[in-house]
Amino acid sequence: ADEAGGDELRSVGDYFEGEGFQRWRRIYDDESEDVNKVQRDIRDGHAKTIDIALDWFGASIEGMTVCDAGCGTGSLTIPLALRGASVCASDISGAMTQEASRRFEIAAEGSSKAVRPSFEASDLESVRGSFNTVACLDVMIHYPDNKMEEMIGHLVSMSEDRIIMSFAPKTPYYSLLKRIGELFPGKSKATRAYLHAEEDVERALNKNGFKVTKRDMTATSFYFSRILEAVRE
Ligand code: SAM
Repeated sequence: ADEAGGDELRSVGDYFEGEGFQRWRRIYDDESEDVNKVQRDIRDGHAKTIDIALDWFGASIEGMTVCDAGCGTGSLTIPLALRGASVCASDISGAMTQEASRRFEIAAEGSSKAVRPSFEASDLESVRGSFNTVACLDVMIHYPDNKMEEMIGHLVSMSEDRIIMSFAPKTPYYSLLKRIGELFPGKSKATRAYLHAEEDVERALNKNGFKVTKRDMTATSFYFSRILEAVRE
């Protein structure tokens, strides 16, 4: 069934503590040579998504409060913190937040502007607080539609002004690609991937009083991600 209950949340968490952590840590680390062609393509695609988000944040974000939900190894958190934003970085995987923290220390060495983020091992639904901007990049792929709506509801409840989120869009073409991908046995099938229709995501945002103000899309050969900015109306 396409229902992700507590079991799926737990299995996504377990995956990102172990095998998933090892895999994504290499993909997200520019300096790691230990990646194949597909992984390199995903790395490049993901870097573009991060660049778009950073561009939307802009350079003057000193003092801005940001919640980075599902922060991974800190690809977004770290550049924001280096620009002086006050980031609450959380991830269901403690291995991820530890790695993000380690990377922050290295990146921030000698910087006077950098603000140390608070790192928290927590699933995004347990994160609490109120932030200028809530960001959630490439996390929804792990959850089906019903769960996605619930997550958006919670994320926007923590946002004072704005949410920036990305997801793999459900279009006829990408649904086909995904089905073709599933025909090939491979070890990257450790978690299921869920695509989401942009209109479903937008409806969930609208229902919570947010209006989409920016849209962009990154597509490489093996990575595709729609990114939206929505603001409180
Ligand atoms: N947002 C980061 C980025 O773009 O660099 C990481 C993206 S990575 C594909 C997905 C991340 O979401 C993983 O680090 C995983 O541990 C985390 N994650 C998955 N389910 C989560 C949940 N329910 N709550 C918080 N984090 C979650």
